[in-house]
Amino acid sequence: MLMWIGLFILITAVAVYFRVSLLLSSAMVALGLAAMHLVPGVSTTTLSLLWVIYAVVVIPLNLPPLRKTLISSAVYSGMAKVMPTISQTEQEALDAGDVWWEGELFSGNPDFSKIRSMPIPKLTAEEQAFMDGPVEELCRMSNDWKITHENFDLSPEAWQFIKDKGFFAMIIPKEYGGLGFSALAHSEVVVKLGSRSGSTAVTVMVPNSLGPGKLLMHYGTQEQKDYYLPRLARGEEIPCFGLTGPDSGSDAGAMPDTGVVCYGTFDGKDKVLGIRLNWEKRYITLAPVATLLGIAFKLYDPDHLLSDVEDRGITLALVKRDTEGVQVGRRHFPSNQAFMNGPIRGKDVFIPLDWIIGGEAYIGKGWSMLMECLADGRAISLPALGTAASKLASRYTGSYARVRKQFRTPIGYFEGVEEVLAKIGGQTYAIESARLLVLSALDQGEVPSVISGVVKQQTMERMREVVNHAMDIHGGHGICMGPNNFLGRGYQLIPVGITVEGANILTRTMIIFGQGALRSHPYLLDEVAAVHNPDKKRGLKEFDKALFAHAGFIISNIVRSLWLGITSARLLSAPGDKATRYYYRQMVRMSAAFALIADFCVVSLGGSLKRREKISGRLADVLSNLYVMTAILKHYEDEGQPQDDVALVRWACDDALLNIQTAMKGVMTNMPIPFIGSLLNFLVFPLTKPYQGPNDRQGHAVARVLLSPSVARDRLTRGIYVSGDANDATGRIDHALEYVLKTDELEKRLRKHMKSGELSPASLTLYEDAKQQNIISADEFDLLMEAKAAVRNAIKVDEFSFPGWKVETPGSEEQTAVDSEQLTVIGEQKTMGGGSS
Ligand SMILES: Cc1cc2nc3c(=O)[nH]c(=O)nc-3n(C[C@H](O)[C@H](O)[C@H](O)COP(=O)(O)OP(=O)(O)OC[C@H]3O[C@@H](n4cnc5c(N)ncnc54)[C@H](O)[C@@H]3O)c2cc1C
Repeated sequence: MLMWIGLFILITAVAVYFRVSLLLSSAMVALGLAAMHLVPGVSTTTLSLLWVIYAVVVIPLNLPPLRKTLISSAVYSGMAKVMPTISQTEQEALDAGDVWWEGELFSGNPDFSKIRSMPIPKLTAEEQAFMDGPVEELCRMSNDWKITHENFDLSPEAWQFIKDKGFFAMIIPKEYGGLGFSALAHSEVVVKLGSRSGSTAVTVMVPNSLGPGKLLMHYGTQEQKDYYLPRLARGEEIPCFGLTGPDSGSDAGAMPDTGVVCYGTFDGKDKVLGIRLNWEKRYITLAPVATLLGIAFKLYDPDHLLSDVEDRGITLALVKRDTEGVQVGRRHFPSNQAFMNGPIRGKDVFIPLDWIIGGEAYIGKGWSMLMECLADGRAISLPALGTAASKLASRYTGSYARVRKQFRTPIGYFEGVEEVLAKIGGQTYAIESARLLVLSALDQGEVPSVISGVVKQQTMERMREVVNHAMDIHGGHGICMGPNNFLGRGYQLIPVGITVEGANILTRTMIIFGQGALRSHPYLLDEVAAVHNPDKKRGLKEFDKALFAHAGFIISNIVRSLWLGITSARLLSAPGDKATRYYYRQMVRMSAAFALIADFCVVSLGGSLKRREKISGRLADVLSNLYVMTAILKHYEDEGQPQDDVALVRWACDDALLNIQTAMKGVMTNMPIPFIGSLLNFLVFPLTKPYQGPNDRQGHAVARVLLSPSVARDRLTRGIYVSGDANDATGRIDHALEYVLKTDELEKRLRKHMKSGELSPASLTLYEDAKQQNIISADEFDLLMEAKAAVRNAIKVDEFSFPGWKVETPGSEEQTAVDSEQLTVIGEQKTMGGGSS
């Protein structure tokens, strides 16, 4: 009897694990019960009891009208009471973009073939030529110290070059005179520029991001496109886009800026139907030099000149800079960067109706237009900047740690520094992978709105970690600002990346999981829509269908999580090779666990989950790390599974798994009903905490990738600007490293002789002593002296005369003086004039 019951449970569990339909599972159970009649010794009473249970529990579940009456209607009414309404702006955000890989992760059983079959990211010949030509040239023209400290602007030549070569027109289609680049090419351009000058990169990236160009391409009337796109492509118009204001930052939808439909005078004509605008925007990139201002505002039609509706909603318009009432030109000074950024205000600015982007048809659709465009833009610009900073930090912190010696040892050989170098290398690999995968999706025509938020938030957080660690390793070399400091400005740029295009705290705690769960969960959105359906009868029918599918999904994830936890997912068939198969399996396991925990949170917290940001932030971490792991595995395969990269892959995947485990444990410990947390813990981690993060051996291997030139290091840092100039801020580090490696054997020989007592370690003339004692030849002596000079050059920091702030670093006489007056101007900045404007 017991054996039969055991077999029974097993068959049911297998059916549930493989998500067999309710009808089929019920039929299997009935078959099992029928078969029990043949078993000798099973009493008729027991069999009757089992059939009664079957009839009471299983049969109603398969009869929708009955289960609707008995179960769904009660749940439906309960949900209707607690379910928060979705505001229009939330709904529009939800409707923006597509569900892509996030849907697979929410499914608890991701189909990796969808990702593995995506094409390997590759630039076209034309895009590559642009990278090798104009982008390299612009990097050479960009002296970040001059830009950010002396001129507070890009040079006039750089501005002209940017316009002439079409940098502002990367996303504009060729038919309008733009470059029509892929998302990958756009990102690569920003990566290279960002590795040279953050201010140049931001200047170039903004017109290619959310703004007039993109909005016109998607929604503009043909007339607007024909007029503006070629002008934007030629750089005759400089665009900016104003959404943020003093009272509407993260909550941009709360903008107090208004447009009122009225008649006015325009272009000498009276009684023109148009809009009177009043707005106050701040932090607007390129605004001080912009000629074309995109403005978001709320449109009202109190006199019903357009329709019966008074409140027409958020609307977007293009306003020419020289329109009466526009105030523009002042600058903010964001984090010591010199890209143009400032406020724009408009007082009673009258514009004709055809200045609305998309014309009258797009009145009130501003929010969804912005959300649509943000969905892809967020995945390109900032992740590219984060990649630039991380690759730059990886390459030059690794090299610096090899050439900089303390206690007679390269600092990179100390375990403490090695530990930090490993984080720099591992996170850079993760950032690059996360960037490339979403770009592939965009270039395949997907607009993954949730994943774009994930990529923005994750690349920015990881970049912050990388740059912070790099600063620690550089010590004073990273702190003392000047033309030779290639890291300090990047460090100062971190908060900009964290804050813009969806501030990270908000993106993590409110958007990723909040939006992700509703968008990507297989059933949740249907349930919510059914609850809010004004036709209650239809709503109940749809709700019943979704509810029971959802219940089956939860039960399946319970079984899957427990089984995968007990077996450590070892029995799963998974793609990948010796190095990565384990990670594929763990991803399936953690995806099932994520789906389960997410459902438990949604069911037990209901609408209050929206306010429980600490819980939803942790769930976002799980989703985000699952995405990052996917990207790492894909990147490794796209690169041809190079064995030299295995250390980086393992480090980054083990780190992601630990993050997932920490986040899940955090959710479990903080569930409002502790029993639910304990139950989840039992189901997901039945044996022990499985993930320990990267170990020291892995860290050592990653650090070694950074400490000397290699194929793996070049692959990791591919795409950044590399200067061949031995006196350049970064070029001097490469130059010194070359010498250090060339003299490595000689240094070893000297150490041997110091150990034997022939040379004194304390001697200030060690190389001369060695030459005199014929331990090294005259040529070797020269080489060592050249290496010493190269290292000295690599570790130097800038010095300034005071007062006067003239750069006085030896060998840098040609560097321009910065007079003290100019510095005072920063403190009291009122109207910082840009050379370009
Ligand atoms: C250099 C720079 C360039 C910019 N360029 C442009 C531009 O070209 N056009 C434009 O329109 N805007 C631009 N912005 C504005 C940018 O998008 C906003 O700064 C951003 O939206 C945040 O608004 P805020 O700075 O007012 O911060 P706040 O909204 O005041 O937020 C402060 C903090 O509170 C957190 N927070 C807020 N609400 C929540 C919540 N519900 N849950 C959790 N955390 C929350 C945020 O994450 C943030 O950490 C730029 C900003 C900067 C700094």
